[in-house]
Amino acid sequence: MKNDPETGELTPSAHVDLQIVQQNYIALRHQAAGAETGAVVKADCYGHGVSHIAPALAEAGCETFFVAYTHEGQALRALIGPDPTIFVFNGIRPHETDDFRIAGLSPVCNTPEEIAMALTARLPAGYGIHIDTGMNRLGIRPENVIDLPGFTHGFPPRLIMSHLACADQPAHPLNKIQLERFHQARNLFPGIPASLVSTAGIYLGADYTFDLVRPGIGLYGGGPARPPGLKLRTAMTLTAPVMNVFEVKPGETVGYGASFEARGPSVIATVAFGYADGYLRSGGNYGFAILDGVPCPVVGRISMDLITLDVTDLAEKPRIGDRAEFIGKIAGYEIQAEALGTLGYELTSRLGTRISRSWG
Ligand SMILES: *Cc1c(COP(=O)(O)O)cnc(C)c1O
Repeated sequence: MKNDPETGELTPSAHVDLQIVQQNYIALRHQAAGAETGAVVKADCYGHGVSHIAPALAEAGCETFFVAYTHEGQALRALIGPDPTIFVFNGIRPHETDDFRIAGLSPVCNTPEEIAMALTARLPAGYGIHIDTGMNRLGIRPENVIDLPGFTHGFPPRLIMSHLACADQPAHPLNKIQLERFHQARNLFPGIPASLVSTAGIYLGADYTFDLVRPGIGLYGGGPARPPGLKLRTAMTLTAPVMNVFEVKPGETVGYGASFEARGPSVIATVAFGYADGYLRSGGNYGFAILDGVPCPVVGRISMDLITLDVTDLAEKPRIGDRAEFIGKIAGYEIQAEALGTLGYELTSRLGTRISRSWG
């Protein structure tokens, strides 16, 4: 692919393969043996485009979705029709009860006050309760859970949930502590569905998956090390076009601050991509891109619109319009993100509006 197929311009582009997302969803469902598999589609599906991803997930059989904000839930309802359940992690505010009623949203209540709102409004799509078992971030503290069964009698929650702090570190002692606290809390609500884990927690095994799991990043092939046998593929292909190719002599520098100095004769390719497009500036002299199947290091600082790559090792010099892959089949989310000092989550959820987008 030379340049953007639609505009003909040399712009960065991101393509998301919806079939891969569906296959990853089904693979995660298989891994979560027996638990219902929902999908977390907050933050525009971590930058992958909720308007395309959510209907594809519904088509693959997903019946429960999670968002962070009420407005995300309202937009999602219009995309997926009346049937699927939509939970809103950030709960409900007093002026929002009609919004929840009209869009058929279910708040995840994080305080007794929110539960009281759900009860008073008798929200038609019900509500969930988030119990803070040790993340110490959001949710009802375990010591306050004991009163809830009486309080919610007559209009019980439809989900009891919590969230693990260290699911990506299977041996971390906090996992077992949170599991134990979650059992204690959910035992107070016999028969009510329970949900503890996101992508990483699914890999901790059947003790952790309860009735419903909540993967997000795994749908795209990102996230922590997976159990052997679980194959998830990278759903996004993010490329940037070469704008300029030139040689530098030993001792010459590249980019702002002259932070890279060529040790030998080198070939540099400048691509149209930068921190305004979401490629973190911390990737200066650390990131990489794939050209002709070969990893080429980012040299020099990341500019707002431009990145310089050392392409000396390529058999053939790249040409203007050739595309460098930053995320894709070879450059997985997490290895690219690690080179920037972050995670796949941050990399894709920050991708900018100048990137030309396609799905298929
Ligand atoms: C974002 C989020 C998830 C999804 O996490 P992934 O690591 O992307 O699978 C699940 N649960 C809660 C509470 C979240 O905030």
